[in-house]
Amino acid sequence: MPEQPDIDHILREIYATLSPRFGEGKVADYIPQLARVDTRQFGMAVLTLDGATHLVGDAETAFSIQSISKVLMLTLALGKHGESIWNRVGREPSGSAFNSIVQLEAEHGIPRNPFINAGAIVMTDLLLAGHTPREAIGEMIRFVRSLADDEGIVIDQAVAKSEQATGDRNRALAYFMHAYGAIRHPVDHVLGVYFHHCAVAMTCRQLARTGLFLANDGRDPVGGGSVVSRSRARRINAMMLTCGHYDQSGDFAYRVGLPGKSGVGGGILAIAPGHAAIAVWSPGLNAQGNSLLGSVALEMLAQRTGWSVFG
Ligand code: GLN
Repeated sequence: MPEQPDIDHILREIYATLSPRFGEGKVADYIPQLARVDTRQFGMAVLTLDGATHLVGDAETAFSIQSISKVLMLTLALGKHGESIWNRVGREPSGSAFNSIVQLEAEHGIPRNPFINAGAIVMTDLLLAGHTPREAIGEMIRFVRSLADDEGIVIDQAVAKSEQATGDRNRALAYFMHAYGAIRHPVDHVLGVYFHHCAVAMTCRQLARTGLFLANDGRDPVGGGSVVSRSRARRINAMMLTCGHYDQSGDFAYRVGLPGKSGVGGGILAIAPGHAAIAVWSPGLNAQGNSLLGSVALEMLAQRTGWSVFG
């Protein structure tokens, strides 16, 4: 057995190394409510499979999980419709920005993968089958609360509204796909649900807890229940590794070597299978819309713990 790394020490070291750089990067100003967030905040949580919680910095401050919710949308859509979802969305890295429109036309309205906006909008359409928008939102928040074992998790209504008000680009994607029959419910219903999923607010600790089943073959190591099968957990991790950082997914795999999903709120959820779930939050983004210091912090953590899916 390799020695268990001293995670608290590693987290303190990461914090001390990065603190002179806090504030680097740019917030996502296309969602006005996110533009108001103080970029100098930084938090990180590592939850290991033995149930231990390691925190540093602003790990107990709630932030907007944004596209990290796409992992939950995918998990729920797979639970509801099984592998047939892959008739509606691809599973290839896009090599394009998260909100790109060009690829959709060339590929007849079928999004490349479930983690670009167009793909997550299709997942949302699937979650609406047999549900009102209100029920679909309720289903998501119940799922998140049960995974995190925390009834206190809420949707930030101000963020949802802010996105609704400025979401023309997502509306363009959705109408375009509706024209192809790639989404089947009314566009305003689908986007209403999509924006609310993105607006879930969580702390690093809650987010890492939510993702812990993905580090443990689909089972919750603390509560003991099965969330998804082992093969499904592997496949969700595979999607995160190949598509979780949009046109920076290759670079993230190279530098960090773990499945990860970013959001424009500045959060990243990373999974070290067999070891831990990790959440990091630093609101400043790089040009690809991923947390700038968040990915540096994960690179440092992976180096120091030796955690990698590549051996
Ligand atoms: N809600 C955001 C959007 O639709 C999510 C994008 C992201 O986090 N990358 O644009």
